[in-house]
Amino acid sequence: MTVLTDQDAAFLADVVEVADTIAKVHADDVDRNARFPVEAIDALRERRALSAFVPTDLGGDGVSLRAIATACFELGRRCGASGMVFAMHQIQVVTIVRHLDPQGADSFFHEHLRAVASEQRLIASVTSEVGTGGDMGRSVAALTPGGDGTASFEKQAPTVSYGAYADDLLTTLRASPEAGPGDQVAALTRNDQHTLEQKGTWDPLGMRGTCSPGYVVRATLSPDQVLAAPFATIMTESMVPVSHILWSHLWLGVATDAFDRARAFVRAAARQKPGEPIPAALRLSHVMSDLSLLRAEVRGALDEFLASEDRERMATMAFALRFNNLKLAASEQAPRVCQGALTTTGIVGFKNDTPFSVGRHLRDAMSACLMVANDRIHQTNAGLLLIAKDV
Ligand SMILES: Cc1cc2nc3c(=O)[nH]c(=O)nc-3n(C[C@H](O)[C@H](O)[C@H](O)COP(=O)(O)OP(=O)(O)OC[C@H]3O[C@@H](n4cnc5c(N)ncnc54)[C@H](O)[C@@H]3O)c2cc1C
Repeated sequence: MTVLTDQDAAFLADVVEVADTIAKVHADDVDRNARFPVEAIDALRERRALSAFVPTDLGGDGVSLRAIATACFELGRRCGASGMVFAMHQIQVVTIVRHLDPQGADSFFHEHLRAVASEQRLIASVTSEVGTGGDMGRSVAALTPGGDGTASFEKQAPTVSYGAYADDLLTTLRASPEAGPGDQVAALTRNDQHTLEQKGTWDPLGMRGTCSPGYVVRATLSPDQVLAAPFATIMTESMVPVSHILWSHLWLGVATDAFDRARAFVRAAARQKPGEPIPAALRLSHVMSDLSLLRAEVRGALDEFLASEDRERMATMAFALRFNNLKLAASEQAPRVCQGALTTTGIVGFKNDTPFSVGRHLRDAMSACLMVANDRIHQTNAGLLLIAKDV
C-alpha cells in the first residue's frame, strides 16, 4: 500500500498543477524549438520543488523518494523534457543527501543543500565523458591539486543536459592525476567556479528541451567540495539505482500519455459510429497490456528499492542486476507503448498538430535506450551473471 505523508501530498499537488497547467501548455513549443522548459522549471522553483527531497533540518521539505518518483511520472506525462530536467536534478540531490557525512553538520554539502533550498538551485550531471561514453564507473579527467590548497579539473563532456541553465554541476572525475580510471570522486561546483565551453549543437530526435550539447567543463574548487564517501559506494547505492528509478518513472509518464491519446482516439471513433466495430480498439488492448508490463516493472522496482534500505544488500550483484534490468526493460518498453499508440491512432497520431499526436512521445521515448547505452548495461550484466551467486 502506498502511504503518502501530508508533505508528500502537498508537494505532489503542486507538481500536478505545474504539469497540467504549465508543462503541458508549452510542451510542443519546447520540443519544436529544442528550448529549455523555462516556464515549468520556474514554476517548480516558485513552489520550492527543487529542494523537495532536502531534509527539513537543512531547509527542504523532506518528501519521500516515492513522491519524487511520482512527480517525475506526472511531469513526464505532460512534457518529457520537463520531466527529464526535474529527474536529473533530483538524482543529484538524492545522491548528495544519501551520502552526507553524518558527523559533518557544517560540511560544504550541508551548506550547499541549505543553498539549494533557499535559492532553489538547479544541479546538472556531468558523468559521461569523451573516451568512456556512458560508463559511469570510469573517468578520464582528474581532480588535480593546485599549490594554493585548491583543486581543478577539465572534463570533455559529450552531453550535459541543461548545462547552460544549471546553477551547479555534479561531476565525476579520477580522484587524482595518478588514480586509475575506476578510482573516482564526485565533485560539486557552483557556476561561479566553473566555465562551460560549448562543443557542437543540440538538435536531436527527442528530449529536445533538455538542451544537452557537449561542453568542455573547467573548474577550480576547494577539496571539500568532493563527496567524502567512496564513489563506488555512491554509484551502486544511489546514483545508478536512483537514476534508473526516476528515469523509468518519467518514461512511464511519456508512455502513459501516448496511451491516453490512443484511447481518446478510439473512444472518439466509437462515438462517431455507435454500435459499429472499432478495429483500433483491439490494437488499443494490445497497447494496454504493454503499458501494464511497463507500469508493473517501474512501480515494482521502486517498492523493492524502498524495501531494501539495507546497505549490505545494495552492494550485492543481485541488487545491481535488478536495477540495471529496470533500465533495460523500461527503456525498451516505453517506446513500444508509444509505437503501439501510433499504430492505434494512425495518421492523426502521426501528424504533429492533432489532439492525438504521439510523435513527440515516440521520439522522447527513443532516447531512453541511449541514456547510457543499453548494450553497455547488458555487457555489465553479462559479466555479473557469470559470477553472481543469487540473482
Ligand atoms: C537526452 C539525453 C540526455 C543526457 N544527459 C546527460 C547528462 O546530463 N549528463 C551526462 O553525463 N550524460 C547524459 N546523457 C548520456 C550521454 O549522452 C551518453 O551516455 C554518452 O554520451 C554515451 O554516448 P554514446 O551514445 O555514444 O554511447 P557509448 O556509451 O559511447 O556507446 C557507443 C556505442 O557503442 C556501444 N558500446 C559502447 N560500449 C559498449 C560495451 N561495453 N558493450 C557493448 N556495446 C558498447 C553502444 O551500444 C553504442 O552503440 C544523456 C543522454 C541523452 C540521450
